[in-house]
Amino acid sequence: MDCIFCKIIAGEIPSSKVYEDDKILAFRDINPEAKVHVLVIPKTHIPSMDAVTEENSAVVAHIFTKIPAIAKEAGITNGYRVLSNCGPDAAQSVPHLHFHILGGEQLPAHLV
Ligand code: 5GP
Ligand code: ZN
Repeated sequence: MDCIFCKIIAGEIPSSKVYEDDKILAFRDINPEAKVHVLVIPKTHIPSMDAVTEENSAVVAHIFTKIPAIAKEAGITNGYRVLSNCGPDAAQSVPHLHFHILGGEQLPAHLV
C-alpha cells in the first residue's frame, strides 16, 4: 500500500522511534511543531478518525493507555497536548490515523 506511515511501520522509511509494541508505533515528527513532537500510530492501516469503529477501536484505546509513558519517554515532563487531524478542513496530510503528542515547552493556549 502506498502509505508513508505503513512504510515507516514496515521499516522501508526510517524514523526516530520512541516506542513500539505489537500494535502501535510512536516516532518523532519529521517537521516538529513543538520542542517535542511525537506521532503515535496503529500498525493497522486506519485512514482517519472517521474510520474508527467498534471493531477496530481497541487499538485506539491501547494508544491512549500508552500515551503517558510515550510522552515521558520522549522527554516531556510538564504536560502535553494530543490531537488528531481528520479530513481536509483539519488539514490531515497523511491518511493513516495518527495522534500528535506536542510538548516540551509552553504551548499556545488555543490552536487557532
Ligand atoms: P497531519 O498533518 O496529517 O495531521 O500530520 C502528519 C504529520 O506527519 C506531519 O506533522 C508531518 O510532519 C509528519 N510526517 C510526514 N511524513 C513524515 C515522515 O516521513 N516521517 C516522519 N517522522 N514524519 C512525517
Ligand atoms: Zn497506512
